[in-house]
Amino acid sequence: MTETFTAMVIDTVDGKPKGAFRQLSIADLPDNDVLVEIAYSTLNYKDGLAISGKGRIARRMPMVGGIDLSGTVIESRSLEWKPGDKVVLNGWGLSETEWGAYGRYQRVKSEWLIPLPEAFSLQQAMAIGTAGYTAALCVDALEKWGSIKPGEGEVLVTGAAGGVGSVAIALLAARGYNVTASTGRPETHDYLAFLGATTFIDRATLAEKGGPLQRERWTGGIDSVGSTTLANALSQTVHGCAIACCGLAGGADLPATVLPHILRAVTLIGIDSVIATRQQRLSAWARLARDMDKGKLDSMTTVEPMSKLPQLAEDIVAGKIRGRAVIDVN
Ligand code: NDP
Repeated sequence: MTETFTAMVIDTVDGKPKGAFRQLSIADLPDNDVLVEIAYSTLNYKDGLAISGKGRIARRMPMVGGIDLSGTVIESRSLEWKPGDKVVLNGWGLSETEWGAYGRYQRVKSEWLIPLPEAFSLQQAMAIGTAGYTAALCVDALEKWGSIKPGEGEVLVTGAAGGVGSVAIALLAARGYNVTASTGRPETHDYLAFLGATTFIDRATLAEKGGPLQRERWTGGIDSVGSTTLANALSQTVHGCAIACCGLAGGADLPATVLPHILRAVTLIGIDSVIATRQQRLSAWARLARDMDKGKLDSMTTVEPMSKLPQLAEDIVAGKIRGRAVIDVN
């Protein structure tokens, strides 16, 4: 195939990484064993950092951006996949060490793919995308820890109106947990209540430095903000309970003490969606297929053309995107 297509490529400009559109052909792609015709990708916080150059995400240049995709296999040297199979890929270093999803075609390793869950269209799978799949990994981890109970206590979700936060609220609410949403955007309260949040707190209250042992409130939490927000969340966690930490939208630091951990047996669970095992991925997607309400998913999703990626990248890093932005790569 000699067809050329437009891709968002991160390269070094004046010593810094920056995304720009380039024409590629299938012959330019890496020699991995499955060629996928990509239908959709998404905009994740990490993509925003990569395209805008505000973070060094790509570890070799040039790098095709886009950390996740849904699409159709068109050629395969693997026995596991055949032409026509619908697939999903999250992470595995796409846009960091491996060429990613912002273009019509990509060659990927067969073991990175999972089947598109029957519950979802290619577009819906990317409405969930890596942010939503990460939210599901967080809920899986909290349930495995065992401290959250339907209808009892409060589960905190920070960065609530963002991608991870929005899906986390919907998934927790679907299982009957009481969800408290921490957001800096009061105008999103109706939206967050529709997703299933019952209580709201202003994110500024968690962003202020607080004491190491505060009033015990959270029986669980999903934090995509980091920094003082996570430190306060840990200081307010009920004895024996856990917070799943997956993001750094408010900062990569953690100005905390060990006191919640050694005096209240509080656990901090780290979540990494990139190198998750196949079993963890299938479990998270099974949860999404079972619990993600399609009406809620639609309400949190916008579909955008690739041409808008430079602006959208700036917007997500500035915390201006609500819910999930699907990218139509064609
Ligand atoms: P979004 O930008 O969609 O959401 C982040 C939310 O965080 C914003 O909507 C905002 O919520 C809040 N926020 C933004 N800036 C600040 C700030 N300065 N202080 C406090 N809160 C802030 O991003 P995603 O949901 O896609 O990703 C969230 C985080 O999770 C990112 O850091 C991302 O890198 C990380 N992530 C990690 C993964 C992993 O594998 N561990 C996978 C996917 C994401 P509000 O307006 O409601 O206050």
